[in-house]
Order: sequence, then C-alpha cells, then structure tokens
Amino acid sequence: MSHNISCFRCGASLAAMSLPLSRQDECPECSVYLHVCRMCKNFDPTVPRQCLEDGAEDVTEKDRVNFCDWFSPDASAFDAVRKSQADSARQSLDALFDSGKGGEGSAASDTSSDSDDAEKLFQ
Ligand SMILES: [Zn+2]
Repeated sequence: MSHNISCFRCGASLAAMSLPLSRQDECPECSVYLHVCRMCKNFDPTVPRQCLEDGAEDVTEKDRVNFCDWFSPDASAFDAVRKSQADSARQSLDALFDSGKGGEGSAASDTSSDSDDAEKLFQ
C-alpha cells in the first residue's frame, strides 16, 4: 500500500512505514509517536475538541499516543502547520511590499532623473 505521509513534527517522509500505523510507531527522524491526533486527518484546531469526528473519544493531549478508532494519518499533517505559518508570514510580507510600492515607484523616477543629471554632467 503506497502512501505519502510525513511526520507532523519534523516533516520526515514516512513512506517506508507500513499502514495502518500502530501505537508503537515512531518517526524515524525525531522519534515522535505517530498515532496521535496531530497526525490524523480528523484533527482540526479550529473546531471544538479539535476533532472533526463526533464519534471519536475525547483526547485532551493532541500529541500523545491515542487509542482512537477513528485515527487515520493525514498526508498533509506537517504541511498544514507549515502552510498556516507560511501564509501568515506571506501576508505580512505582502503588506510590507504593498506599502513599499508607492515609494519604490517614486524612487525609480528619482533615479532616472538623477541619471539624466549625471549624463548631463558627462556631456
Ligand atoms: Zn519526525
């Protein structure tokens, strides 16, 4: 069975591990347990109990091994975390660029007039 899941903590590929993941399975890179909520596709920090599956047992520690029957590893468990961080970083970058655009434009025209002046000096 081929899959493309990766560790929710370090992003290491878990493609060599056989599914389903057992409660003993650890990440080969960072040794974190993998049968945990944060590795699961039902995990969603934005919903009550941080779980999309109403029938799942209440797991309070989302990075501890759980005994949940609904556990299903999410291939994007790591990317989801990274993506949200990247998105917020990109948004602040965009804000920087947007506020800088007007200044850049006028700076560019200043530069061209400066070079015109410089060229006159050399003529
Ligand atoms: Zn790892």
